[in-house]
Parts: sequence; C-alpha cells; structure tokens
Amino acid sequence: MIVLHPSIIITMDKDRRILDNYYLGIDGDKIVYIGKEKPGEYEELIELPGRMIIPGLIDSHTHVAMTLLRGLKDDADLMEWLQKYILPMEMRLKPEDVYYGALYGIAEMLRSGITTFLDMYYHEIEIAKAVEKAGVRAVLSYGSADVFFNRSPEEEFKIAENFRANLEKLAKEKGAEDRLFFAYGPHSPYGCTKELLEIFRDESRRRNIRIHIHLAETQGEFDDIKKKTGYTPITYLNEIGLLSDRVMAAHVVWVAENEFAILREKGVNVLHNPISNLKLASGVCPVPRMLKEGINVALATDGPASNNRLDMFREMHVAAIIHKGVTRDPKTVPAKTVVEMATINAARALGLEHLVGSIEIGKKADLVVINLKHGPHGTPVHDPYSMIVYALDQSYVESVMVNGRWLYYNREYSTIRFDELRETIQEIRDRLMQEAGIS
Ligand SMILES: [Zn+2]
Repeated sequence: MIVLHPSIIITMDKDRRILDNYYLGIDGDKIVYIGKEKPGEYEELIELPGRMIIPGLIDSHTHVAMTLLRGLKDDADLMEWLQKYILPMEMRLKPEDVYYGALYGIAEMLRSGITTFLDMYYHEIEIAKAVEKAGVRAVLSYGSADVFFNRSPEEEFKIAENFRANLEKLAKEKGAEDRLFFAYGPHSPYGCTKELLEIFRDESRRRNIRIHIHLAETQGEFDDIKKKTGYTPITYLNEIGLLSDRVMAAHVVWVAENEFAILREKGVNVLHNPISNLKLASGVCPVPRMLKEGINVALATDGPASNNRLDMFREMHVAAIIHKGVTRDPKTVPAKTVVEMATINAARALGLEHLVGSIEIGKKADLVVINLKHGPHGTPVHDPYSMIVYALDQSYVESVMVNGRWLYYNREYSTIRFDELRETIQEIRDRLMQEAGIS
C-alpha cells in the first residue's frame, strides 16, 4: 500500500465529506484506506503538506482528437463551421493522425486533472489506443451518422459494431477492461436517419449499452427537426423510444416546456458544455431548471476545436457563473453543485459510478493533487468548493493518478513524451493544410 497524506481531501462521497489531515491508502488500482491515523503497514508514505486531493475530474463529452483542428476556424456558425471547415478536414485525417491528436488531447486533459472522458469520433479505435497508452480511462463511441456519410443505416451500424468488437479485443489484450468502455454514438437527430436511431434503440435495450448523442444543441436543429418530423428534437427521440437512463445527451440547450418532464421521467443524463455553447452562440442550457427537476447534469468541454481547451477548471468556472447571469439569481448552480457535475454526477452519467467519481474505499484510485501553495489563490481556505470553482485554475494541478498509477507527477508525464508529441502534431497540421491547398 502507498499512503498519501494531504492537508485536505474532497471526497464527493454520499455525505460529501471534506477531510482535514487524513491518510489515504492505495493498493494496486484501488483506494483501500481513509483514516485519521497513519496505517500500521505501508510501502511508501508521501507527505503532501499544503495539498488538496480531489477525485479525478470527468469530461463527459468531447472529441479529443480535435486538438488537430483547434483554431482552424473560430467565430463561425455551428453548421457553417462543421460543414465548411471541420468535416472536409476530418475526411483527410489518417488513423494515425487521430491517434496522435487524441494522445495530445489526453496530455492536455491530465494537466487539468481529467482522468476519465466520454468521446465520440471517427477512427475511434485509434483513440482507444491512445487511452490505453496514456493510462487514462474513457467511454468511447464511434460517431454514427448515415446522413452525413450517405451510407445505409445497416452499413453505418455495422461500423459501430466493428468498433465495439475491436475495442473489446484491445481492452482484453491489454488488460484494460476497467479503463476502456464502449457506448453507441448516434451523432445527432439530424446526422442519423430514423431507421438508424431505431437500430440503436433496439440494440441499446437488448445489450444494455449506453447511447452518446448530441441533442437539441442549436435553434436551427430545433426548427429543422420540427419541420421534418413534426416534433422538436427531445420529443422526436422520445417518440422513437430512444430515450432512457442509458442515454448521455450532450448540450440539450433547446428544451420545450413539456420536455423537462420527458428528460426527468426517462432519466436522460444531460452533458453540459457551457463554453462550447457560448462560443458557437448556441445558447445556454437551462441547467437551473434541470437541477430543480432532478435531472442528472454532468459537465463537459466538448471538442478542443469548439472550446478551445480541454480544461475542466475553466469549464467549472463558466458553469458556475453563466447561470447566475442568465437567471439573475446568485444562489443558482452553486460551486459545490458544479464540482458534483465534474465528478460524481459525471460518473453516474457515464455508468461508472461504481468505479470512479468520488474518493471512497473500494473505488479506483483516480486522484488529483492540487498544490495550494502554487499561487495566491490557494490561501486562505474558507470553502474548498468555492476555491476550486472560482479561484483556482489548472496550473494548481501538481500530480494526477489514474488506476493507482501516477500519470502526471510533479508536473512530469510518465506515459507521454510531450515535446516529441507536440512536434508530431505540428507536422500533421502542416500536411493537412498542404493537402487541402491552404498554406
Ligand atoms: Zn460534441
């Protein structure tokens, strides 16, 4: 057992205990001891004075390999951005480009304490390889969109199933079955035909597999789906029978009054991406109302091309202030709730609550060490949640452990050669631009 002895532990357990001066014991990949007394036997004791340990943060919706496209085109309308800039560039991406883009994104994530993420992309098996190599944890979905790619629903579903088989094989081969998870990824109500959505509905039910989807992101989507189907997006998916507590729905900005009850009754998990929604001018997800309704809301960055960072500290900050401005209620979406959205709520959304999301005996050792002495914002400590959300930034993250292994220790990576990787990313960017005839 190795023992950590920080000044503060934010547990996010069911009593939301904050522990001062406790010992935290880790054996293999699990948390095995939390106590006021130093355990009798251990291999190593790491004294961490002035440090606060929080559960590994969970980014519940991203497209991690889009680090390659960060800054390609900003200040544009979502549909224009997607169809004119992003999709044509994505067509040129080789599988290994996606691998390096993902590894680079994971390196960025570790710096802000992200230990688990939910992804949707193409060549998703490459992202699985990057997750495996880096040592983090992820739920991965292939972005199925028969409308975008002009494929039959059956063909498109087969690609998702192929990915599932390959992911399961990789996880087994590498002994990473507790770090690599699968979800179906129908892209959106506009990227998929009704027939494809019905296939996902049936297979998700039959195999108890989660569904990761973009939903009700923009007013354009809201209006188009209504024009095409007679229903607004959430109602449309409900009419198909797709909605359940296995659904992880990103954005959910455009919600008709009667649709809050649908989300609540079906147990849909909402993945809230405040920065992406603001930057793409999609609007603001009605989080205060959702929380009042008892809907599970998790926090997410969205892809690095629409954010443009994979930084949960920045995301927490914006999530905590945006709803106050919109509702003119300073008490709405308090700091503690925001930390819940980035940890335990997100674990629940991803179906991983039994493994991660809090610091409890028996759970996986996914931990973030924050050095409160790094700068002025870590002293004095009044309310640790307020400090995390309003005052600190990712530069306070000193070390990150996933599955009992230090992946980032005293700001050094143990599984990623960052400088080499950065050069590779630049080379890929140059090649893509050359191929596209843009210098
Ligand atoms: Zn997205």
